[in-house]
Amino acid sequence: MPTEETTENLLDVRDLSVEFHTDGGVVRAVSNVDVSLRPGEVRGLVGESGSGKSVTSLAVLGLLGTRRARITSGRILFRGEDLLTKSEKEVRRLRGSHIGLVSQNALSALDPSFTVGAQLVEVVRRHQGVDRATARTRALESLELVRLPDAARRLRAYPHELSGGQRQRVVIALALACRPELLLADEPTTALDATVQKQVLDLLLRLNDELGTAVLLVTHDFGVVSHVCDTVTVMRRGRVLEEGAAGAVLRSPQHPYTQALVKAVPRLHLSQAERSVPRQERRLHEFAEVLASVGEESR
Ligand code: ADP
Ligand code: MG
Repeated sequence: MPTEETTENLLDVRDLSVEFHTDGGVVRAVSNVDVSLRPGEVRGLVGESGSGKSVTSLAVLGLLGTRRARITSGRILFRGEDLLTKSEKEVRRLRGSHIGLVSQNALSALDPSFTVGAQLVEVVRRHQGVDRATARTRALESLELVRLPDAARRLRAYPHELSGGQRQRVVIALALACRPELLLADEPTTALDATVQKQVLDLLLRLNDELGTAVLLVTHDFGVVSHVCDTVTVMRRGRVLEEGAAGAVLRSPQHPYTQALVKAVPRLHLSQAERSVPRQERRLHEFAEVLASVGEESR
């Protein structure tokens, strides 16, 4: 792909503003937001409900969809090319093959009337133009990649025959089937119980290590950020409040809002030293209990 602009970043969202025209007037959902991701980076996009996280990530995917949404400023550079100048067809091609999406609700992401295998094969064929046999092989590889036990048999299963955690693994397999460089995961574990949440987060981390896939992880939960993110962008009311290395932001949040968010997370029983260690070097199992206790508190 020719680049229009020199950037080392895989993704550069610059000065993005989005508004919705509703019957009740204009809603400014996102104001002058900057978010960047380097290849292989895991960035948390964190903030309370309504802060503009989903709208920002939907804009990156070209999925704002509704005619009521209007992008009033900004650029979305993916590998140096502005997605906002591309045709719908070009963006659709990027989506899936270069940018994958993992949404919160696995049930809505999967079609109940097709088997897991059929849906994976369809995605691979659509984006990679390979024959059916090759697509079937890739489908199986993808299920193995997300550590779905008994993958060959699961290809023939329908979504309702799987548990919530298994379904979320299938959604991740679908997003990764074409080996995108960037994965957008919008609250991918919010609907899951604490143990499964931990497993899915660990899976995302392992895939990040193995495949080098960059991840923009949308979450309202600083516990999740501490567990998996290299960097973090904190949003509130459609604006970016602060951003930086996850360890640094967790250790010494600058903005009072971030301080409150971090303080409100009792499960972050991390010492100063632990918070400063890059997450790749942390031993993940140390966080298992911590995360488990969170789920129980919030239930
Ligand atoms: P978050 O994901 O951080 O919880 P969102 O990005 O979904 O928040 O929403 C940001 C703001 O945009 C909210 O005020 C929300 O009400 C508004 N918004 C989102 N989608 C629409 C829509 N389709 N129509 C009108 N307003 C919307
Ligand atoms: Mg959201």
